[in-house]
Amino acid sequence: MLILQLYVALLLLLGAPLDTLLDREHGLPSWYDPGMREEAFDAWIALQGAAIDESIKTTLFSGYRSYEYQAVIYAREALKHKSGVNLYTARPGYSEHQLGTAIDVAWPGVGLGVHDPRNKRLYTWLAENAHIYGFVLSYPYKSAEVWPYHNRWMPVVTEYIHEPWHLRYVGVALAKKIYDAGYLDPASPVLPQHFYHPWP
Ligand SMILES: [Zn+2]
Repeated sequence: MLILQLYVALLLLLGAPLDTLLDREHGLPSWYDPGMREEAFDAWIALQGAAIDESIKTTLFSGYRSYEYQAVIYAREALKHKSGVNLYTARPGYSEHQLGTAIDVAWPGVGLGVHDPRNKRLYTWLAENAHIYGFVLSYPYKSAEVWPYHNRWMPVVTEYIHEPWHLRYVGVALAKKIYDAGYLDPASPVLPQHFYHPWP
């Protein structure tokens, strides 16, 4: 028992690697509770500063979410979306927000709506610039030509709908590598998830 507690303490101390894979099969333990990771938060502040230099306003819509909080959100979204819930929201233990390195970003006061012109401008800018600060878009848009379905509504590609607001901090080197591999090209099969590894 003591060994197990030490192991848990060590994992918490070290934190999950920045390239930890999270998808429907690969989750995090319920006790993994790192809070917002400092390096991710610092990178967010830098990104926000660069955006404001171009008169683009940003606010943190969602940051770190614990396993327990994700369970609350999942239950709420399940009421709203019924059987479609898994296209929108990860089950507890399977959300990148539990890593403490994922953020949802929006124009202040606008929410996550993709049709608002302010958010459109923000999301276009994020796609082009986020990697400079170590972020990638976890759920990029992919076109119908390369996959049997349009993943805005049928997330056969990343399991979730296209989420231009959801950024994940992976460090500058890996973000650049993923960006250079062309993951934002709607016709490219490259996804950030191809660069990640399960943990622990
Ligand atoms: Zn998110």
